[in-house]
Amino acid sequence: MSSTPDVTVTAPAGGGAARHRAPGTEDALPLPTGAGSVAEWTQRYTHAVMDTFGAPQRVLVRGEGPYVWDADGTRYLDLLGGIAVNSLGHAHPTLTAAISAQLGTLGHISNFFTSPAQVALSERLLALADAPAGSRVFLTNSGTEANEAALKLTRRHSDGARPRVLALEGAFHGRTMGALSLTHKAAYREPFEPLPAGVEFLPFGDTDALRAAFADDGEKVAALFVEPVQGEAGVRALPDGYLALARELTTAHGALLVLDEVQSGMGRTGRWFAHQHPHIGGGVRPDVVTVAKGLGGGFPVGGLIAYGPQVAGLLGRGQHGTTFGGNPVASVAALATIGVIERDGLLAHVTDLGERLRERLRSTGNPLVREVRGEGLLIAVELTGPVAATVAAAALEAGIVVNPCTPTTLRLAPPFVLTDEQVQPFVDLIAALPAVPTTEEIA
Ligand code: PLP
Repeated sequence: MSSTPDVTVTAPAGGGAARHRAPGTEDALPLPTGAGSVAEWTQRYTHAVMDTFGAPQRVLVRGEGPYVWDADGTRYLDLLGGIAVNSLGHAHPTLTAAISAQLGTLGHISNFFTSPAQVALSERLLALADAPAGSRVFLTNSGTEANEAALKLTRRHSDGARPRVLALEGAFHGRTMGALSLTHKAAYREPFEPLPAGVEFLPFGDTDALRAAFADDGEKVAALFVEPVQGEAGVRALPDGYLALARELTTAHGALLVLDEVQSGMGRTGRWFAHQHPHIGGGVRPDVVTVAKGLGGGFPVGGLIAYGPQVAGLLGRGQHGTTFGGNPVASVAALATIGVIERDGLLAHVTDLGERLRERLRSTGNPLVREVRGEGLLIAVELTGPVAATVAAAALEAGIVVNPCTPTTLRLAPPFVLTDEQVQPFVDLIAALPAVPTTEEIA
C-alpha cells in the first residue's frame, strides 16, 4: 500500500463524506478484463443486453491498428471499422493520449459553460466544410441526433409554413423518431408510426421525380435530405448532376438542402466531405451538413454544420439542447482524429488505397463479383446472388470482418491506416470464392 493519504472531500449537507483516492492508490475495481471465453460472454449477453442487434458475432476484447482480437485470442482484420467509425484504427496512440489527457484535465461541463475544445472543434468543422462567414455548428453525440437537430432546424424554416420534407428511397438517417421519419426502410419505420409528418420519399437518383416534387407546391418544401453516398443501402453514390439539380431546385423554391455525411464524411471517401468531390457534389454549397461516425475516431461525437447566418439562426436560444453535445473529451477526440488525418496525409492514402483495392478486387475475375464500387475507403462488393451474409460469415471464420449491408452487397469501411499488405487476405478470399456458393462450400 502506498503511504499517500486518501483525499477526502466534503459531501453536500445531509450526506456522508465522499472519499477520493489519489491516482495510483485505487483498489482494483471490478471492471471486465479480457478474461472469460467468447461462449461465456455470449451467454451473459443474452441475459443482460436487449436483443435489438441479434446475437453478437464475436466478443471482442482488444484492438490495434486494423486488427481486433476476440475473447478466445483469435485475431481479425477489421475491414468494417465499427461501421465507418474507427478511421485511425484501434487504440491509436495519439487519439488515446489526447482523450486521456483531456479526461484527466476536464472531463465534462454543462452547456452553461464552454471549453476551448468545443470552440476549436466547431471552428475546424466550419473550415473543413468551406462554410461562409456566419455559419455555426451544433455538436451532438451521434448521427441520429445530428439529423434530429437538422430536422428541427428545417421545421423552423419559414415558421412552419413549409410542411413538406423530401428524402430519398434507400435513405438511412437514424433511429430516433425524427431521423426515423426520414429513413426509408419500412421495417424500421412502421412499428413506430405515427412518425413526424410531412416526409415524402423520392426514387433514388431520379432527376425527373425530383423536378416533379418541386413542380407542385414547391414553396411548401422545407428541406431535401440526402446522403451524397448512401451507405446502408449499399454504397450508392448519387448520379452525376443530381446534387447540382437538387441545389438549383431547393434554391429556386426557398427550401434547404441538407446533406447527411454521417457515414460519407470526415475523410471516408478521400475528401473531408463526399459532396466536395466534383463528380458527386458538382461544387454545390449545402445549407446543412450532418456528421458523426468517423468524426471522433471511435469516440461518440457528431454535429450539424449550418451554412450562413440565416440558416445558423434558425434554432434560437432554448430551442434545442443536449447534455453531452460539445463535451470536452468528445471534442478533443474529434480534433485529434482530424489532426492525425492531416498530419499523416491520410486523405490521399484513403483515395489511393481505395482505388487500388477496388482494382485488385475486380481483377480477381471471380464471376461471383458483379461489381466493385465506392469512393475512397467506402467500398461495396456487389455479388451476383443473395449470398452476402454467407460470404461475410465465411470471411469472419477466416478472420476478416466485413458487412453484408444488403443481401447482395458486402460493405467495407476499413480504418484509414490500412495497408496494401494487410488487406491482401480479403482479396485472396474473394478470389477463392466458389462461383455458386453454398454455406458448406464457403465455410
Ligand atoms: N446517417 C447515416 C448516413 C448513417 O449511415 C447513420 C448510421 O449508420 C446515421 C445517420 C445514424 O447515425 P447513428 O447510428 O450514430 O445514430
